[in-house]
Amino acid sequence: MLRRDGWKVRVLDNLEPQTHRHGCPSWVRPDHDFIRGDLRDRATIAAALADIDVVFHQAAYGGYMPEIAKYVEVNSLGTAQMLEVIREENLPLKKFIVASSQAVYSEGAATCPEHRLVFPPVRPVAQLRQGDWEVRCPICHAITTSAPTPENAPIGGETVYGLTKVDQEKLVLLWGKQIGIPTVALRYSCTYGPRQSIFNPYTGVIAIFCTRLLNDLPPVLYEDGEQTRDFSFVEDIARANLLAAETDALDGLPVNVGSGRGVSIREVAAQISDALGIQIAPEAKGEFRPGEMRHLTSDTGRIRAAGYQPQVDLASGIGRYLDWIGAQKDVREYFSEAAEILREKGIVHHVRSK
Ligand SMILES: [Zn+2]
Repeated sequence: MLRRDGWKVRVLDNLEPQTHRHGCPSWVRPDHDFIRGDLRDRATIAAALADIDVVFHQAAYGGYMPEIAKYVEVNSLGTAQMLEVIREENLPLKKFIVASSQAVYSEGAATCPEHRLVFPPVRPVAQLRQGDWEVRCPICHAITTSAPTPENAPIGGETVYGLTKVDQEKLVLLWGKQIGIPTVALRYSCTYGPRQSIFNPYTGVIAIFCTRLLNDLPPVLYEDGEQTRDFSFVEDIARANLLAAETDALDGLPVNVGSGRGVSIREVAAQISDALGIQIAPEAKGEFRPGEMRHLTSDTGRIRAAGYQPQVDLASGIGRYLDWIGAQKDVREYFSEAAEILREKGIVHHVRSK
């Protein structure tokens, strides 16, 4: 999208093997200005940032694994070092955009019958062990319904990944104000689309469900599958980045990027199943991940007011992803092995049998 609009683009990527199982992907062509290197290396950062006007900082380590130091090192320290290099070298940057995430929220906003819009905390593990998935009002404990989450909802992060996303956006936004460089933190909803790794079993629910079904296995739903998420097609995420680069209306702010529509994970599984013509009922065996939010729909008022309009709905986005997967070789399924590891490491829990 950037190239099409006449930008000169340089890419820095470490080609993490969990995502890029077969090395450099075919869409990186020899005439691209591509640096294979790690964000944790200062000299690499300095080389990548030379002569750059706008940084779109997407690099991060993601997922639910218990590698606390790696998240902090890549996400928090990696970002901090970029900011230091820009300041030390006095680089004439025009804007710095950082990819944040809806994972910065503890739980999605909710509506209580009595207290209207409330911001519930993460659900207690003791409650989840009972197989009780409801989100309750923090004031009266009534069962709530999901509401769009605005940017001013409390942030904290209930997973190590979420916590490092809070670090990243706070570091970038406050540094920008100190140094006088415009910054934007884009809080992405669940992102999917062509080129999303079909090898990484730890992140990307749509990719995981596709590879499960294509291998004649049922999609696995955590909780009861009725938790909801907001999905963004990758091109819409790219559009949001371009908009943030070109407008000054979002400068200095955290900004939700999403469709504004919540879809249950069970519904996502059904849509993929229908699109593939593979009817295998999903499994929900009472497994859950502590710290995971029940519902998250982005309130997209802020970015829409700046001119953003997502263009690809979930059904056509899933279709586009399946077309792309259809052209890939080696569509294996890595989730079964990963699911076992997540259980062993205590990341995925099971409801207590009665
Ligand atoms: Zn209430």
